[in-house]
Amino acid sequence: MNELQEPAPSADQAPSDAALRPRYTRNNPYNSTVLVNRLLSGEGSEKETRHFAFSLEEGITYTPGDAVGVVPENRAEVVDEVLYTLGFTGYERVLDHYKNEISFAEALRTWLAIGKLARGTVSQYAKLPAAAGVGGRGPEALQRLSGPENKLLADEYCWGREFIDLITDFPGAIGNPQELFSVLPRLAPRLYSIASSQAVHPDTVELTVRVVRYSTHGRTRLGVASGQMGERAHVGAVLPIFLHSNQNFRLPEDSSAPAIMIGPGTGIAPFRAFLEERRAKHDTGKNWLVFGDQHHATDFLYEELWSEMQADGTLTRLDTAFSRDQASKIYVQDRLRENAEELYAWLERGAYFYVCGDAIRMAKDVEQALLDAVAKASNGSLDHAAEYLAAMKQQKRYRRDIY
Ligand SMILES: Cc1cc2nc3c(=O)[nH]c(=O)nc-3n(C[C@H](O)[C@H](O)[C@H](O)COP(=O)(O)OP(=O)(O)OC[C@H]3O[C@@H](n4cnc5c(N)ncnc54)[C@H](O)[C@@H]3O)c2cc1C
Repeated sequence: MNELQEPAPSADQAPSDAALRPRYTRNNPYNSTVLVNRLLSGEGSEKETRHFAFSLEEGITYTPGDAVGVVPENRAEVVDEVLYTLGFTGYERVLDHYKNEISFAEALRTWLAIGKLARGTVSQYAKLPAAAGVGGRGPEALQRLSGPENKLLADEYCWGREFIDLITDFPGAIGNPQELFSVLPRLAPRLYSIASSQAVHPDTVELTVRVVRYSTHGRTRLGVASGQMGERAHVGAVLPIFLHSNQNFRLPEDSSAPAIMIGPGTGIAPFRAFLEERRAKHDTGKNWLVFGDQHHATDFLYEELWSEMQADGTLTRLDTAFSRDQASKIYVQDRLRENAEELYAWLERGAYFYVCGDAIRMAKDVEQALLDAVAKASNGSLDHAAEYLAAMKQQKRYRRDIY
């Protein structure tokens, strides 16, 4: 779902290798200090969304549209539970992916993805020498979940489960701790859209993070990275981060070009950065923001900032869609359809159309609403609208950062 693709610089503008290489990367992250960890969502919200500010060292720069990579660690409770279930102490020695010797506890904390269960983990687990003798649901059930012909069954099993569920359901396959390096993927960094402009915040980078919490199969789950930020990234804590450039998601080069920004939920993050930047640089382009979430009272992220920006003229137009404030649900795409004529008029004036947030449903629904709106307002067909959208894409005026 990640649409991040970095185009190669053209030969005549290619900087030297050393200049291109970022100082901090996923393998060599910057140890940033948490300066702000503030709850954005109100009491009673179904979601926990937080605003973070992280310190930056002098010389680290970013551009609105970029993301931050957070290098997470697994929770101590989960590590302890895995150790206990496997019958190890954590002091055992193992070799990490670079063949450095570390303790097994350290491997479980920083190297191995013991969160969300992947189908590949189940099949690798089923291939271990001791898998033929697993207890619990038994070796036949485990074999049924592996094999390429049983993908659907395995997907169903993996949904809402973590590694702890696998070793609880099928105990006894792990003979030695090193085997986990062939069973589990490496713990990966998570990306978060940057919610600040460095023109306004020279020494910090800010994020809008929804803490992933849910309960499945009798256990309470917490997202690895968002959970770490929500529960353990108190002000003063240190978190390893790196910057991730996204050349495809940039403000219009022409500062007078209008911008339409569709950012429900945490999809709002990059638009906070865009609007801060445009305000700081006195860009003359008009800005239209469309935000949506469940309830106005508890989920209207950065409401005060938008009021301020409406008052000072930065924000030309703000539309909101709070899905659960009335009997029938209203989403951002409904606002686009309702305002088809105005939307089309903006596009005809050269507006850029940005979408950020949920890739699975929202982005598709918004694209369909955009097509419907163009067809309706131009008195054209959906085929005509598809051509119109294709031309926008070619002119790089339709830009998405969806996940
Ligand atoms: C380019 C980009 C930008 C992003 N920007 C942001 C941002 O600005 N803000 C933000 O909050 N996130 C953002 N994300 C998402 C973020 O990277 C993480 O994916 C997210 O925070 C979850 O990571 P985690 O480690 O907390 O959870 P994980 O440990 O990775 O767990 C998440 C997984 O849990 C499972 N899960 C979640 N809920 C349920 C449920 N109810 N039932 C069953 N299973 C469930 C799903 O399989 C899900 O994939 C962005 C992602 C990308 C790629």
